[in-house]
Amino acid sequence: METDFSYIDENYSRILFEVQNAAAKYRNSEDHIDIMAVTKTVDPEAVNHAVRLGIGLLGENRVQEYLAKKDFYSKNADVHFIGHLQSNKVKYIIDSVSLIQSVDSIKLAYEIDKHAKRIGKIQNVLIEVNIGNEESKGGIGKPFLRDLLYEAAEMKNIQVQGLMTIPPSENSEKFLYDMQQLYIDISAENIDNISMDILSMGMSNDYIKAIEYGSNLIRIGRGLFGPRNYR
Ligand SMILES: *Cc1c(COP(=O)(O)O)cnc(C)c1O
Repeated sequence: METDFSYIDENYSRILFEVQNAAAKYRNSEDHIDIMAVTKTVDPEAVNHAVRLGIGLLGENRVQEYLAKKDFYSKNADVHFIGHLQSNKVKYIIDSVSLIQSVDSIKLAYEIDKHAKRIGKIQNVLIEVNIGNEESKGGIGKPFLRDLLYEAAEMKNIQVQGLMTIPPSENSEKFLYDMQQLYIDISAENIDNISMDILSMGMSNDYIKAIEYGSNLIRIGRGLFGPRNYR
């Protein structure tokens, strides 16, 4: 029996509509906003349905889960790693992800550089910033961000393309604003070998606000696939 994925169609239409509205209201007409489907706990069949609708970016959180699912994924989407990444797991994902969004330490950057070099790849990455200084969250603290950027700029097999964040759920608007300012400041610093092309922020509950504050990559899980089903 065919599984009914019409709920994904409906969710995606609603998200597209809202993204277009927010972009029209808050952004320049040339700004492009990418919509990522965040796939944790979602069956590959449902993920592939989202890809058929035109979503070209998948976001993976867990190495084990990703390795179990990746061979079943459509090849028509790029995969980004967006979850906490332990240095000793880099080797399992380096050959199949187009971007790692969750780089938050010099140690992890060094490990990615090392494995990228081994397989002859330049690995695109974002630096994850813990903009609300929350202990429960990953990301580098703002005071240490420049050190990490300058170290990563020296690594030949890493290309930093921007910043990522998960703002605190309380007062998130203030933190979206802080993140936008940080992104603008760092862009203006023109650090050699560092580009600020991607600002990845906004999830199901705050993506419209994130677009208002300059995000160009929103990461949607539940808003697209419905409530998560942990097994
Ligand atoms: C789970 C997750 C998302 C998506 O969250 P939703 O609330 O389901 O949209 C986005 N980014 C990261 C890093 C996540 O872990």
